[in-house]
Amino acid sequence: MDLGAGDVAGRAPGGHPGDVDPAERPEATARRALGRALHQREPDILRFCQERYVAAHHGGDINTVSHDPMWRITTVATLAIARWLQTGSGASAEERSTIASLGGATAQQRGMIGRPDGTGMASASTAGRSDRGPVGLSVAMLTRLNFWWHDATCTVLAEEAQRLGVGGAVLHEATGMVLRSAQASLVSMAERFDSELQSLQQRLGELALHDPLTGLANRAVLIEQLERALARLGRHPEGLAVVFLDIDDFKAVNDVFGHACGDGVLVELAARLRANVRPEDVVARLGGDEFVLLFEGRADAGADAQALAERIRLLAAEPMLVEGRELHVTISAGLAVVRLPGRCAEQVLAEADSAMYRAKRAGRNRVAMVDVDDGPSLVRFVTTSGLHQALAQGELRLVYQPVFESRHGTVLGFEALLRWDHPEQGPIPPLEFIAVAEESGLMVAIGEWVLHEACRQAVQWGTQLGVIPRMAVNVSARQLEDPELVAKVAHVLADTGMPPALLMLEMTEAIVLGGGAEHRGALEAVKALGVQLSVDDFGTGYASLAYLRQLPVDQLKVDQTLVHEVARHGDTRIMQAVVRLAHDLGLEVVAEGVETTVELDVAQRLGCDVVQGYLLGRPVPPAAVDLHQRTAAALA
Ligand code: C2E
Ligand code: MG
Ligand code: MG
Repeated sequence: MDLGAGDVAGRAPGGHPGDVDPAERPEATARRALGRALHQREPDILRFCQERYVAAHHGGDINTVSHDPMWRITTVATLAIARWLQTGSGASAEERSTIASLGGATAQQRGMIGRPDGTGMASASTAGRSDRGPVGLSVAMLTRLNFWWHDATCTVLAEEAQRLGVGGAVLHEATGMVLRSAQASLVSMAERFDSELQSLQQRLGELALHDPLTGLANRAVLIEQLERALARLGRHPEGLAVVFLDIDDFKAVNDVFGHACGDGVLVELAARLRANVRPEDVVARLGGDEFVLLFEGRADAGADAQALAERIRLLAAEPMLVEGRELHVTISAGLAVVRLPGRCAEQVLAEADSAMYRAKRAGRNRVAMVDVDDGPSLVRFVTTSGLHQALAQGELRLVYQPVFESRHGTVLGFEALLRWDHPEQGPIPPLEFIAVAEESGLMVAIGEWVLHEACRQAVQWGTQLGVIPRMAVNVSARQLEDPELVAKVAHVLADTGMPPALLMLEMTEAIVLGGGAEHRGALEAVKALGVQLSVDDFGTGYASLAYLRQLPVDQLKVDQTLVHEVARHGDTRIMQAVVRLAHDLGLEVVAEGVETTVELDVAQRLGCDVVQGYLLGRPVPPAAVDLHQRTAAALA
């Protein structure tokens, strides 16, 4: 093998007569001369290794192969041998570490996995950062590199020994050192490879179980733990509770303050959750701004779990200091309680998720509960495109529930309630798709259709009956924010011939409360058309009657949960106060969700003006509405 000794001949290699110390032993002189020669031939060795690499793998030009750390190590190893020949001192700790790092870099490259920030596995490395990235080396290549270097170095030494007339014993000693050095390098590279691989595997294991941002358990862990907890239910009848929570308007935090700040909020919330539960409770992040907590033995009394979920809601609402800013975020949570075995983790999680959506829809910053043992509330996946299709292809329809004057039971009119007959999934109740329709903005178009259809229906019934019934239509938050709402309502009234005074627009308490001055402006503008306004689901949020006084509303619908509570516990004080104050404000009071005669009795005794509920009449399709019914059977 000719490594191009001629190239360096002109560069005055070692063996210059002036270097020889007459007092030195001849072998020592020979070793030093050989060392100097090797030092100078280092570029030849490097080039040889590079050429072999190109031939073995890439073909083409060495300049296009950028594996700097690999070549630096070749140089370091050659110069270490040269120095040893000249001075007798072996490779320094630093040189050995540099050489070993190639093994670490190789493991890095083998074990490279993506992280969201694109840094790969860098943090787990023990080698210097610059030694990593570009080294696309296999272990086999690492080994070959060692052999090439060994061969090239031994060849150069033999050539130089011959040229310098250095004796066989010195050459033998030098090549022996090269071999030992190559072997030692290989061992230390392999050791570094092993330890790097081990820490990578450990980190991979952690990543597989934990969310990298918050360190909380991830979805896989949650599902596994939930599955186990569900399997234990047969033996531990105290049950379990799952809280599915989502930060309200998290997108706005990211949009306004940047993603780093958004991450800060997630990390802070994660820390609060973790710090405020028992060690055995599972706290997981599912991704985005969704977190799930799993508590065993907390569902025996639904109230206990509810108190727990409420505590979490308040915990999140405390101000946070993120990146020097005080932020206020709220969460909406779905609480699912399970006592009976037989459910799978995905089902329970989906129930908690849809309860969370209910909480969002009811105005956010609240907890909605679902008792999973009450039977499966069908879990469906509503998509925006599915909703577009629903609207375009006439899959939406309205059902009508009668509302009655409470004392004599006269039919006052109807409330229009939306239904979606999905071609594959069957009928989907409104609370399952309205949140998606709201988020996508499609609710504005859907709401317009509902308004038109309900008014058209009322007027048509009017021609049959001789008198147009009162029609209540639910209006969503998005509709109230629509600057064209007033124009649209006016157009529907004109188009259908519906008298404004017979149209009652219902808005939930949360909507009325949520929007502040803009909402009030919209309400006043609609009111000016002559339509009636109603506050729906009163008692589910925090609306105070004093606040309602400032709004141009005509009716208050007491939420069915309040009606049920009063009938169940017999404590009428709150409802009585609500009815009295509402009357003082000149509002008509409706009791919603009247299901039993006890509830009807309570509603009547407390002075509710209007009653509505399954006891008196269920929502039915227009064809099933009995137009000739004058009074409710239960009230007759
Ligand atoms: P809501 O406006 O409070 O309507 C009353 C809900 O209670 C209806 O549920 C009705 O079917 C149900 N209900 C009536 N009587 C009883 C009873 O005695 N017991 C029980 N347990 N429930 C009773 P639905 O139809 O599932 O609608 C749920 C909610 O979806 C409505 O609550 C309303 O907020 C919303 N929604 C319905 N249709 C529309 C719509 O066209 N537009 C908008 N924006 N929201 C709508
Ligand atoms: Mg309503
Ligand atoms: Mg209601």
